[in-house]
Amino acid sequence: RACFERVDATDQRVNTFITRCEESAFAAAEAADRRIAEGQAGPLTGIPVAVKDIFNTEGVLTTCASRILANYTAPYDATAVARLKEAGAVIVGKLNMDEFAMGSSNENSAYGAVRNPWNLECVPGGSSGASAAAVAARQTAATLGTDTGGSVRLPASHCGVVGLKPTYGRVSRYGVIAFASSLDQVGPVARTSADCAAMLGAVAGHDPMDSTSIDTPVPDYLAGLDEPLKGLRIGLPKEYFIDGLDADVDKALKEAMDVYRDLGAEFVDVSLPHTDYAVACYYLIATAEASSNLARYDGVRYGVRDEEANHLIDMYMQTRARGFGSEVKRRIMLGTYALSSGYYAAYYLKAQKVRTLIRQDFLDAFEKCDVLMTPVAPTPAFRIGEKIADPLTMYLSDIFTISVNLAGTCALSTPCGFSGENLPIGMQLVGRPFDEQTILRAGHAFE
Ligand code: GLN
Repeated sequence: RACFERVDATDQRVNTFITRCEESAFAAAEAADRRIAEGQAGPLTGIPVAVKDIFNTEGVLTTCASRILANYTAPYDATAVARLKEAGAVIVGKLNMDEFAMGSSNENSAYGAVRNPWNLECVPGGSSGASAAAVAARQTAATLGTDTGGSVRLPASHCGVVGLKPTYGRVSRYGVIAFASSLDQVGPVARTSADCAAMLGAVAGHDPMDSTSIDTPVPDYLAGLDEPLKGLRIGLPKEYFIDGLDADVDKALKEAMDVYRDLGAEFVDVSLPHTDYAVACYYLIATAEASSNLARYDGVRYGVRDEEANHLIDMYMQTRARGFGSEVKRRIMLGTYALSSGYYAAYYLKAQKVRTLIRQDFLDAFEKCDVLMTPVAPTPAFRIGEKIADPLTMYLSDIFTISVNLAGTCALSTPCGFSGENLPIGMQLVGRPFDEQTILRAGHAFE
């Protein structure tokens, strides 16, 4: 009840919820009460959680913040949602986002822009902007987002909360509406690393319904959180500390380094030499996969159909012309071009080869250190409207997060300071593949 009251009091300003699930939430809360009374409570029993509107939720509107899915009710739960319910979490609603998770500012939504709770004139970051803003505005204790190129970490950083992108394959993507399948990963947002650990523990693990989910044991992420950091080697990739990095971001990171030194960690210089190619490589792979994934929205199988067209081809074209927003169309066109006959080898295949080099950079760096520390974003949150007319500038918001998705490894964003304008700044801790434990422990020690 307190959660919905808080949503009522704040949502007009931040615009985070697309759908509220009051009835099912109260039923779930009662069931949680019973489990607590029986002494059966787990870490998430009765905890209010909201999920990005990219997750299929049985019997509940699932729009992906697109006009083309404005009437789509999912017939089943995504595995991550089903696992949250099994863990006793109370799903309170579905959250705004950039349409089909394409964006860095949460301005690309058919339901309007999400606003940053720290300054309503600023963006919350995207694409899981509302997943971070809802936690920052104290609407829910935790949320789920997805991260294809930074979409959990960037909003967490801009909203002063913690966001985790798990290793590719750690969490099932079954029932998560696909953007770029080889990069998409489900991730929690919460106030602390410990809360993210509880969320990850509930959703992680192999799922026969997603053949890319990996069958490896799920550790108890809460168990090792308090282990001391003494001897932890933190790598500083030189390509991420460039001239021109925002002065407040630079200062916040330097102060965080001092905290880690006091905690007994040591810093080592490392290099990720292919960093310069990451954004270009990502925007070939992500758009190519998106153009293929979004072919299914044809007015027949899902969602809205244009009723005015007189024959099939017109119906396809008008449904897609009216249903998709301009950023989604831009991506479909770029991706279709990159995959066209004769271009595949020059673009998509080349980008995949570069991707292998980027992944190898990370594996080489992890020979010398246990985690990497970098900024999350080049600047704190920017003003709504500031970058929306210039897609290339917008794409550069992800310059520090995208490589982690290309490499398929895990990373955490945790708050480490404020800008002169009192906007939160986050740092990124990157871990070895499937070593979420170490970055959660490092985040927890810092917080
Ligand atoms: N901002 C990036 C993009 O627009 C990443 C989005 C994401 O991680 N879903 O593609």
